[in-house]
Amino acid sequence: MRVIFLGPPGSGKGTQAKRLVASHGIPQISTGDLLREAVRDDTPLGREANGYMTAGNLVPDRLVIALLLERIRRPDCGGGFILDGFPRTLAQAEALEEALKEKAQPVEVVVNLEIDTGEVVERLIGRRVCPNGHGEWHIRFNPPKEANRCDRCGDPLIQREDDQEESIRTRMEAYSRDTKPLIDYYRNQGLLHTIDALGNLDQVTGKIERIFS
Ligand code: AMP
Repeated sequence: MRVIFLGPPGSGKGTQAKRLVASHGIPQISTGDLLREAVRDDTPLGREANGYMTAGNLVPDRLVIALLLERIRRPDCGGGFILDGFPRTLAQAEALEEALKEKAQPVEVVVNLEIDTGEVVERLIGRRVCPNGHGEWHIRFNPPKEANRCDRCGDPLIQREDDQEESIRTRMEAYSRDTKPLIDYYRNQGLLHTIDALGNLDQVTGKIERIFS
């Protein structure tokens, strides 16, 4: 199964995509996670991407497309994948379509998480992540067991640099300008399933699972 999660920053794409991994046994691939890893490892890609990411701008297509296509060629993607945060531009969607056409393995489902922008800002500002990649929490909606500490490793949680108000605004603009057109792109292909992403995590997961059943 090849699935794409679309939605503005803070709509819960990553959280919901990770939940599907457990129930469907296919990898979740987040270009945001791959890029943050490259930044942490101080690779040439990470050094080039870092400035764009901190400011909340999109990383150039040529970098992200190469990164994603390399990732989905790996053996663990043989049975499919869940993409979260890719594609974010029309050029990325077309590059993906082209690459999958060669293998006759097209995208089958696009889940579009719809949410009010006011709600999104509150979700992003209150988000805290584990510095070791163990997950994310929210100070109000999904607090960790011990205040501001990772449930798995106990390290203090941090706020992503791009979860500051200024970057959030830039990310929302990038979403409206570059990513929103993909809703029509996939609707025209008959692949789009729009879900109301407001509500608690389990309710939203339930709605998503109904698409697959
Ligand atoms: P995310 O974790 O999905 O919110 O992504 C964090 C940041 O990584 C974004 O604000 C962009 O700077 C960059 N990024 C992630 N995925 C993409 C993509 N598909 N295209 C361009 N930039 C991306």
